[in-house]
Amino acid sequence: MELYDSHAHFGTTEEETSGTLARARDAGVTRILAVGGSAELNAAAVQAQALLPDTVRLALGADRDQTTLPQADLLADIRRQHATHACAAVGEIGLDFHYTPETSANQCSLFAAQLALADELKLPVVIHTREAEDATCGVLDEIPWHGSSLRGVIHCYTGTPAFARKLLDRGFMVSFSGIVTFRRAEDVRASAKYVPDDRLLIETDSPFLAPVPLRGKTNEPAFVVHTARFLADLRQLPVESLASLTFANAVSLFG
Ligand SMILES: [Zn+2]
Repeated sequence: MELYDSHAHFGTTEEETSGTLARARDAGVTRILAVGGSAELNAAAVQAQALLPDTVRLALGADRDQTTLPQADLLADIRRQHATHACAAVGEIGLDFHYTPETSANQCSLFAAQLALADELKLPVVIHTREAEDATCGVLDEIPWHGSSLRGVIHCYTGTPAFARKLLDRGFMVSFSGIVTFRRAEDVRASAKYVPDDRLLIETDSPFLAPVPLRGKTNEPAFVVHTARFLADLRQLPVESLASLTFANAVSLFG
């Protein structure tokens, strides 16, 4: 059984990242999307990709926490990074009005600019959305993505099936993290049953959100097997089938 962790962040030391990648390989996690979002996260993702290029695909971008920096500088840097490194996606990008509602206007404009960049580069996007459902759909619908090459995933999905429907209708895949295993996550489980086989991805979002039974530990790609087993039970599939369909979906987006 081979697993694809469609969303992982890495630490800064080469030694730590080498160990993380070795444990992933031992656990059957043969492909990983290393995701950036800030200068530090982008550099860490680049390092992980350089250490194990057959396994690791790369997503570079500026997340919602970068809006304190001048947007023109951020976009110039993301463009430069995409010109330097072979990237599989732009990400992570998106909106979070839970922690920083005061920057919502800047978040929307940075998000829209990177959607346009992804469309120009013909790369998929990795989108974070939290307490920003209407704004997320609003930004997606303002840019001319209909009929364009823009596609991607809503990662670490925590919304209802109704919001998932809106994202599926806009052509996106939906990815589930260890949150789906948490006791109170009934809405997330309903959504994880609702998303069709050909739009489903799994991820760790490591180092955060370790799945049950490892909740509270520092998460890492090797742990995605627990989320795979849980989702397979939920969808009444053999875990091998869940692994192979999510692997194929992730390959179709990120290679
Ligand atoms: Zn993330």
